[in-house]
Amino acid sequence: MPLRLSELLERIRPSGTPGAPSEGQQQRIDADRAEELAELAEVLRQYEEEADALVAAANERASGRVQAAEREARQIRSGLADQVAVVQAERTVSWPMPPTDGFPDRGGAGPTATSRGSDPADALDLLLAGNKRFIDGDNTTCTDAAIRRAETVEHQSPIAAILTCSDARVPPQLLFDQPLGHLFTVRIAGNTAADPVVASLIYAIRHLQTRLVVVLGHQGCGAVTATIEHLQAGTDLPGELTPVLGPLVEPCRLGLDRPGDPITNAVEANIDAVTSKLRSLEPLSGSIEGQPVGVVGACYELTTGRVSLLGPAPPGPETVATG
Ligand SMILES: [Zn+2]
Repeated sequence: MPLRLSELLERIRPSGTPGAPSEGQQQRIDADRAEELAELAEVLRQYEEEADALVAAANERASGRVQAAEREARQIRSGLADQVAVVQAERTVSWPMPPTDGFPDRGGAGPTATSRGSDPADALDLLLAGNKRFIDGDNTTCTDAAIRRAETVEHQSPIAAILTCSDARVPPQLLFDQPLGHLFTVRIAGNTAADPVVASLIYAIRHLQTRLVVVLGHQGCGAVTATIEHLQAGTDLPGELTPVLGPLVEPCRLGLDRPGDPITNAVEANIDAVTSKLRSLEPLSGSIEGQPVGVVGACYELTTGRVSLLGPAPPGPETVATG
């Protein structure tokens, strides 16, 4: 243990000898002073070492407390996230879930076949209600994306199959405000009924228990416009686009023949043609497993965001509003 500072100061204080010291006395005094100063320097060095050790120990304790606080904060955050997930899950319960039992490729338990969305008219009600939220800017589904992602890892139970154009401005999940797993979408430029498209829709009906197919055309369709331009110019369709534009030729001819805007006419004629074709196919008409299946035509308006039904409403126990 080093000397106390007060002791050191006492030891190096001048002795107070009266009169001028002799040369020999002065040399001894200087030697004593030098020795005292060296001893003081050593004591100060030891104090510095002790101070450094104290600072290091304090830093270590503070670091430990910081790490403990960080662990506690992580636990609190995790707990809050769990609580938020529970609240969101409770809110998500209000989402009508289609039936999830009765088919071998559907995993997990779910509501019974009497749930909302299990017949075409009910499913259409859900879509139109979602479209109203979209128009009003009240989309709700994105906030539940993480929960819905977890819920749909093992299975999908789409309430409707949407056949629509590939146009980037016509995203079905957004404009119908439907969460993950609710819509089975088949997209092709011009929303025509090519064989793979039809097969995809049949898959949804037969294997996913989807009971509503919506053929969704849209205002200002580029594929329809391109086809009309070729018809008006009397030019052949580009070879590489023929598989997509070819099925649009007949509806576009009808559109040109009718009074009014030819593009709007052709879009509606195409929706009508595709809807009629799908309705003529056995799995997509009538009923399956004792449940009605419906195909409905609709048109999406880019300017307003509104989806309007074309033609008759799908079958169901309730009257479907088509406004
Ligand atoms: Zn289009």
